This record gives sequence, C-alpha cells and structure tokens, in this order.
Amino acid sequence: MIRHQPIADGELADVRGRLQTRPRDLVAWALARFAPERRVVVTGLQVEGVAVASMALELDPTVRLLTIDTGRLPRATHRYLAELRAHWDRDIEVVHPDPRQLDTFTRHHGVDAFYRSPQLRLDCCHIRKVAPLERALADVDCWMTGLRREQSAGRATTPAIELDDRHGRIVKVNPIAGWTDVQVRAYVEERGVPVHPLYAQSYRSIGCDPCTRPVAANEDRRAGRWWWEQGSEKECGIHAAPLRVVPAGRS
Ligand code: SF4
Repeated sequence: MIRHQPIADGELADVRGRLQTRPRDLVAWALARFAPERRVVVTGLQVEGVAVASMALELDPTVRLLTIDTGRLPRATHRYLAELRAHWDRDIEVVHPDPRQLDTFTRHHGVDAFYRSPQLRLDCCHIRKVAPLERALADVDCWMTGLRREQSAGRATTPAIELDDRHGRIVKVNPIAGWTDVQVRAYVEERGVPVHPLYAQSYRSIGCDPCTRPVAANEDRRAGRWWWEQGSEKECGIHAAPLRVVPAGRS
C-alpha cells in the first residue's frame, strides 16, 4: 500500500502543542494540511461525530463525510442519515461490509452470532465495521472523529491528534477529545443540527440495533452496548485494539 508521508514527529508535536485545546483551529489545520480527497470525517452518526462534521463543513462545505452501514443499524439511524443529508444538502458516503465475508460468517455462525461469545461478537464487529473502515482509510492520510475522553475509561487518554498505527500511521484527529456532553450538545443545538432520534428514547451510545439498548439514568453511558458481555471493553475495534483479533482467513 502506497501512502503519502502523512506527518513528521516534529510537526505532530508542534500541532498538538498549539492546537489540542482549539478544536476548530485543529480541524482547520487538518483541512489545510491534507488534500481534500485524502482527508475525511468519519461518524457513526452519534452527536459527537455530527458535531465534528458540522465544524468541518463550516470550514469546507465539500469536506468528505463518511459513515459505516453495518447492515444491522436501527431503522432510526437510516432515517437520521437521510435527515442529515437533507439538513446539510450534501452527500454522506456510506461504506459496507464485504458481502462474501459476511455471507461466510453468517452461514457458519448464524445472523445473531454475537450473542454467543465475545469472540464471535468481535468477529462480527470486524467484518461489519472494522474491515470496511480499514478499506475506506486505505486511501486517506487523515481522518477526523468525534472521540471524547469522557466517553469511557478506555478513552480517557484520547489525544486531540495522534498517529494512527492501526491504519498505517495516518493522522487521526479527535478535535473534541476534551469536550463534555454539555459542550457537544450546545455546539449542535446552536447550529440547529438535528441529533439522532434515539437519544430521546434514553439511548446514550448508539450502534447496531441488536447490540444497543437504552440505559437507565444511573448506568454508564456505554452500558447499553453489548450489555450481555461481562467485563468487555465495550469497543468494536475501530478506535481501540480488540480483545482478540480475527485469525487470518477466519472470516
Ligand atoms: Fe455485529 Fe453487533 Fe458489532 Fe454490529 S455491534 S457489528 S451487529 S456485533
């Protein structure tokens, strides 16, 4: 795989030092630093990613926006995607799992294999989320996300900008890493950007339909993700290394 040289260590340190607490300036830097076709905002259509997309769109109305359709998203997410496209009057790219990988997996393990073991859950996440994103990021030098430190213990040290070793050492920008829930909500509300309708039904983190449930007020925000797993990291593998990797040829 041929990549552009994304960034030198010195530049990374300089940008981090100057811009890590200035989300809009950090996004502006990324937009100016990388060619338009080689930078992308990736969002799971949760409020954080939508805030970053909104921030980037204000700076560059043509910026690439991308989401993953796992094939198991809630219908509300599809409706919300259409709503966002209409709101911004522009396209949002959608990537999908490889149908052959998916067919092999579901024929061997069933369509709801994720309930049966942590490894099958991770395999499903790999095929439906991780691998499609890897293919999409193979052609970019920089991606921007809505990751925040407040979201979970595992994300508590998320930097505003980093080299993403898991995707070929491209630049990963998490401009609102230090924001609170209140800041994120205020940002989108001030701009009149619609938010995912499931938030109004007590969801606090929204993923695939069979793997997400609403949470009670006293529960952790990610308690509704893969709630049947005990002690798991509540990660699909996109942002954090999975507990186990899919053996070569397994899928
Ligand atoms: Fe599969 Fe559930 Fe992961 Fe979606 S969240 S990819 S359905 S295991």
